[in-house]
Amino acid sequence: MKLTYEPVIGLEIHAELQTNSKMFCACSADYSNAPEPNTFICPVCTGLPGALPVLNKKAIEQATLVGLSLNCSINEFNTFARKNYFYPDLPKGYQISQYELPIASKGYLDVLDDTENPLRVVVRRVHIEEDTAKLAHEKNYALVDFNRAGVPLLEIVSEPDMRTVEAALSYATKIRAILRYLGVNSGDMEKGVLRFEANISVRPSGSSELRKRTEIKNLNSFRALTRASAYEIDRQIKVYESDGEVVQETLGWDEARGVTVSQRGKEDAHDYRYFPEPDLPPLQLDRTWIDSIKDQLPELPDAKTQRFIKQYELKRQEAILLTSEKSLADYFEGVVFKSNSPAKTIHSWIAGEFMRYMNDSGVALEDIKLSAEQFAQLIDMVTDKTISSNSAKVVLNEMLKSGGDPQEIVKAKNLAQVSDTGFIQEAIEKILSDNPKEVEQFLAGKETIVQWLMGQVARATKGKADPNVAKELLVKALEARRK
Ligand code: ADP
Ligand code: MG
Ligand code: ZN
Repeated sequence: MKLTYEPVIGLEIHAELQTNSKMFCACSADYSNAPEPNTFICPVCTGLPGALPVLNKKAIEQATLVGLSLNCSINEFNTFARKNYFYPDLPKGYQISQYELPIASKGYLDVLDDTENPLRVVVRRVHIEEDTAKLAHEKNYALVDFNRAGVPLLEIVSEPDMRTVEAALSYATKIRAILRYLGVNSGDMEKGVLRFEANISVRPSGSSELRKRTEIKNLNSFRALTRASAYEIDRQIKVYESDGEVVQETLGWDEARGVTVSQRGKEDAHDYRYFPEPDLPPLQLDRTWIDSIKDQLPELPDAKTQRFIKQYELKRQEAILLTSEKSLADYFEGVVFKSNSPAKTIHSWIAGEFMRYMNDSGVALEDIKLSAEQFAQLIDMVTDKTISSNSAKVVLNEMLKSGGDPQEIVKAKNLAQVSDTGFIQEAIEKILSDNPKEVEQFLAGKETIVQWLMGQVARATKGKADPNVAKELLVKALEARRK
């Protein structure tokens, strides 16, 4: 019998916080908008002797928000630690991090696994640290830019609770959504503000042992996370199948070749010689302060999804889509608020034509020219039959491309539907006398011919005839031809 394997995945997620200044100094943390390399720097973030770090209060607030959102307990007593290692992007020769007492621990996040079943991933800890400088590798030398050095960084560590790549992806996606909801991270992975590390092992299905794992560093996109994890699972299975042993090590992901590559043997905690940071006193948070941060928590994706299902009678998948981004959920509710049409109808327009335009054009929701109010007006014109839904699609695309008022566009394009029976009647009479054969067929019992005749009516009236009115008149005119 062939042995089957079960992957075991734990994720470490690094997220830069969106504060104005760096973690331990007053330098701007907005390094991607720095005028030049090495301009947002000072003695603290370049590690000059004698410079002393000072905690960034905003970063502590944001870290607390994240901890609370992930159902963690917030530790009132926080200490900072030095994680020692040498690398040119780390000017002090150590990173200030948290080791024994992180800001938040023992939380969880509920996600859906590959079969859409709920899975609770335990969040082991959330701790505060600082980002490193950036290295640019040239042919015979490397350049260091310290603008990023000391930018507040959060590390979110999960337990090895995921069993499929899909579950890991689902967890990572949800963490990103929560960070964006909280406004503490842009989620812009191309800029490196959010990075994943996947810890992976495989074991025989049914076993509960934790086997040797590898850690894939610096995965900068969901695609890289997915591909690298899948590759690594496969690779480890092959190692076991050929009676080999998986070596605990740190791997990199070679995007171009689609393979994981060994970087170094995995270090253990003792390799870092962690010790308490002597330059920062322990941080004592008090309960009332933590509670005041709790009060700032916005409605998070799961709660919003539940509310949308109830309040707007949406299906779960529909609500999940709309709440995937806070801006999209807000936009949807803005349209609902301004419109007289059912929320379901508004969901269809947003999930259909509107999102198609955004995907095709790559325009971000923030840059969309169409106000919620204009969108509501347009949808209401379809609901009250002023225009057909096909015409509305034309108007919508025009508004998305060039802005404008829906009523004016409808007028300019002469798209208003006509329920004026005289005008429609005239068109029908002409069609029936031009197509005697089809009339015969109808009278002989072929009722499906009505659809074809309706098409002729739509053409003759340039889509402006209200279809319900037109159908009624058409059938009446046909029946009148029975002797
Ligand atoms: P370290 O602190 O040395 O990096 P940890 O044991 O604390 O190592 O775990 C780091 C990450 O690796 C966590 O996300 C954890 O869930 C994951 N992990 C630990 N053991 C395994 C394993 N056997 N298989 C997969 N992931 C694991
Ligand atoms: Mg690690
Ligand atoms: Zn500085």
